[in-house]
Amino acid sequence: MNSPFRADRISAAKIMVVGCGALGNEVLKNLALMGAEHIWAVDFDRVESGNLSRSVLFSREDALKGRFKVDVVAERLAGMNPRIEINTVRGDVAFDVGLGLIRKMDVVIGCVDNRWARYCINRLCMRAGVPWVDGGISYLEGTVRVFVPGKNCYACQLGPEGLKDLARRIPCPEIIRRDEQAGKAPTSSIIASVTGAVQVQEALKLLHPELLEEGALTSLCGRMFCFEGEHMTTRVVELAAWDDDCPVHDRWEPVKETAVTAETTVGQALEMLGKELGAEKVTIHLSADCFVDRVIRKDNNASLTVMLPGRKVAERLGQDPDWRGFPFSALYQHEYREIDERFPYKSLTVGQLGIPEKEVLHVSTSSGEAYMEMQ
Ligand SMILES: [Zn+2]
Repeated sequence: MNSPFRADRISAAKIMVVGCGALGNEVLKNLALMGAEHIWAVDFDRVESGNLSRSVLFSREDALKGRFKVDVVAERLAGMNPRIEINTVRGDVAFDVGLGLIRKMDVVIGCVDNRWARYCINRLCMRAGVPWVDGGISYLEGTVRVFVPGKNCYACQLGPEGLKDLARRIPCPEIIRRDEQAGKAPTSSIIASVTGAVQVQEALKLLHPELLEEGALTSLCGRMFCFEGEHMTTRVVELAAWDDDCPVHDRWEPVKETAVTAETTVGQALEMLGKELGAEKVTIHLSADCFVDRVIRKDNNASLTVMLPGRKVAERLGQDPDWRGFPFSALYQHEYREIDERFPYKSLTVGQLGIPEKEVLHVSTSSGEAYMEMQ
């Protein structure tokens, strides 16, 4: 039997891989071997010696030099196939990947190890209308799920309790990330191989909608594949969930273009958006994170100017001896979630607010909502 996959379809597809750890390594390797030529890799982390026993693309030297994972995988993939165009985002999927970039993808593959990151990938993919394939691994167990906008959604599947639990933790992603990493489940190269291979196979199926339609292939969409290596059991369980009231899977459309870039100042951006939308007043909603100008201590009213996106505040507090280790509950954070003509720091750039390149801005005017894709 020949492969049902068309080589031209795979080589033309735009595929994003979020997370370049054990699973991400396997997924990227398989994409390269299967002939994918347009790949985006996203990760914020550096290679460490602990990664080497389960990551096929990393070397001892990469760990010694503490190189960024995305830089290393880009180099190794180019070595496997010089035709591969590999683009990298050295950052966090929660904040640093513009929705405009996700909108260009045919499929996104999630290789992350925590629920917060899955929630963020899901939110981006649902807004953009792009399917995504999730993988999860622990020592001898792997799971794969496929989420297709309009059919099933990771957030819907969590249910109201799960979402509430997650929402409580959203305000401080830096801390979540540290906690999740500290409690990281031990994994092995074997389970990463099995799971990553199934993820790539599911991603390639999504590139062939006509074969799915006629029944020549069946997608895992709406079900979960579970592999357990200890006693060699595999299961596929039903997992369809699409709740019409879910606030997380709102599709952002129609999307129009704006000339605003991450380098445009806030003042100029408000003016440009106003002209482009034919509106006198516009409000930009910061959808991923707030902007904080200062924090205030409740005990003595001392104030510290930070001028940073909310996610960076903890880092800033840690740098200042008077504020280091100060609990968040004892602070008042003065933040902006909406940017309009009253915003006092108009000479800051859009990027300094924490908005990534190619983001789609959620803008409201007196005549309604608009979604504006940055250059
Ligand atoms: Zn949902």
